[in-house]
Amino acid sequence: MLAIELINRCNFDCFFCGARLNKIDQPRETIPNSIFYPIIDDAIHLGVSRLKLTPSTGEIFLDNEIYEKLDYIEKSKIEKVEFHTNFSLVNIDKLLRYKKLHIFISHYGCGNYETFSYMTQQNRAMFDRIEDNIAEAKRKGLHILVDPRPLSYDFNYDNTDDKTLPDTYKTKRDRIVMKNGLCGMLWLPRILSNGDFVYCTCSGKARDLPSYMILGNVFSTSLEKLYLSAKRKEMILEHKGGKYNDYCLKCNSFSKKITPTIFCLRNFSKMK
Ligand code: SF4
Ligand code: SF4
Repeated sequence: MLAIELINRCNFDCFFCGARLNKIDQPRETIPNSIFYPIIDDAIHLGVSRLKLTPSTGEIFLDNEIYEKLDYIEKSKIEKVEFHTNFSLVNIDKLLRYKKLHIFISHYGCGNYETFSYMTQQNRAMFDRIEDNIAEAKRKGLHILVDPRPLSYDFNYDNTDDKTLPDTYKTKRDRIVMKNGLCGMLWLPRILSNGDFVYCTCSGKARDLPSYMILGNVFSTSLEKLYLSAKRKEMILEHKGGKYNDYCLKCNSFSKKITPTIFCLRNFSKMK
């Protein structure tokens, strides 16, 4: 599994957005197709069969080249590609031509306009558009998974303005998860939309990353070299030994649930 963030922007402005997408001062970034295609080829060469295009950051349908990217994946040996979307900018007829997609709709407010609007800062027209898109997708037989996002959803509460944030969220945001052994997220590295290759798909704090969490950049170094790098192996071994850097120590996305697959172990054995 490889996670690739295609874009660092979203057309919504959710107060809980883990990536602080619309408040970051970086320029808008998308991975151009001239870079994306070789990344996919390298990933296949490494044995990657599954892609994640949204580790909860970015609205991929804001990428002007998204359908060309999906075309490329569809024709490749990648077996499955999954992503979350707010489903506001989709072309259902175009999506019907892909067989490998697992589309998760982040359904903010679960069909209730007041909650939707509070969570996303969007208006009634946007709410209606999404509900219409879901209805059209179901009518036309597009395979979608509607992922309920009620107000009580357990988000990564990082994009917070303390003036507007309910107290319950502040507590959750500031919690620190106890760590013990290897964080399974290390088996899920991620490419950011600026090309940075980072150790894990830790979505909540992607924009706070210190340089020691970045292994290199796919715009200048091959994915294979970064994927199999000694530094990646070193971090995995450090975690196994209960040693964590400052960033991991403060992280609340630590997970023991993700275990290595044969694919992970095979690539681990190739790391220097
Ligand atoms: S939480 Fe999702 S829909 Fe909301 S701003 Fe962030 S990426 Fe966009
Ligand atoms: S502890 Fe957090 S930052 Fe460290 S590898 Fe796990 S998810 Fe990533």
